[in-house]
Amino acid sequence: MSDCIFCKIAKHEVDAKIVYEDDTVIAFEDTNPQLPVHTLIIPKEHRDHIGDAVDEVLLGHLFATVSTVAKLKGVDKTGYRIVVNTGEDGRQTVHHLHVHVLGGAQMPIRMGPAD
Ligand code: 5GP
Ligand code: ZN
Repeated sequence: MSDCIFCKIAKHEVDAKIVYEDDTVIAFEDTNPQLPVHTLIIPKEHRDHIGDAVDEVLLGHLFATVSTVAKLKGVDKTGYRIVVNTGEDGRQTVHHLHVHVLGGAQMPIRMGPAD
């Protein structure tokens, strides 16, 4: 995906504050953090979202990387929330699969009942 910003970050064509990287995933700081710790983890290979034919081994590694990132960011003991916004109703804005890792303070918003 030549016009995908997260693909460009994965290829080091666009700057990002990288937290962790290996052959298949990369984690970097969100440019608009919602909590003191706000890191995004993505597969390097483009997938639009979690339902876009993601290999199960890669999916497992993507989520295993959450605890790696939590330790690197120092929130493994205090806790954090992981979020995977998906599609329009999920308010996904960047259409390259990503896991948000949010922590460093308590989540300010709790979901209420649906109408
Ligand atoms: P979504 O709403 O798609 O789940 O979240 C996309 C996230 O990507 C947002 O939190 C937004 O701040 C972040 N983001 C958008 N563009 C960039 C960028 O160019 N670099 C980085 N590091 N984060 C970005
Ligand atoms: Zn992409």
